[in-house]
Amino acid sequence: MGRLLILILLVVAAWYFFKYVAGPSKGRRSDRDDAVPAQEQMLACGYCGLHVPESEGIRIGDAFYCCEAHGRQANGPHDG
Ligand SMILES: [Zn+2]
Repeated sequence: MGRLLILILLVVAAWYFFKYVAGPSKGRRSDRDDAVPAQEQMLACGYCGLHVPESEGIRIGDAFYCCEAHGRQANGPHDG
């Protein structure tokens, strides 16, 4: 029985050896590039000419406006 126990210990030792020594753990790189979003495009208002970020203005058809009011005025007063 002693030989079997030694054999098991050798197998376990070899397993640990290959796991921790022979197979170097590759360091995970955690440098994700989600810090700075892409620079937002600045567009000129089709009514007053003010440059605002695209997300802050509105689009009506192909035109861009700094605010909804300018978009309405540029497209004509339909409802008052
Ligand atoms: Zn405007």
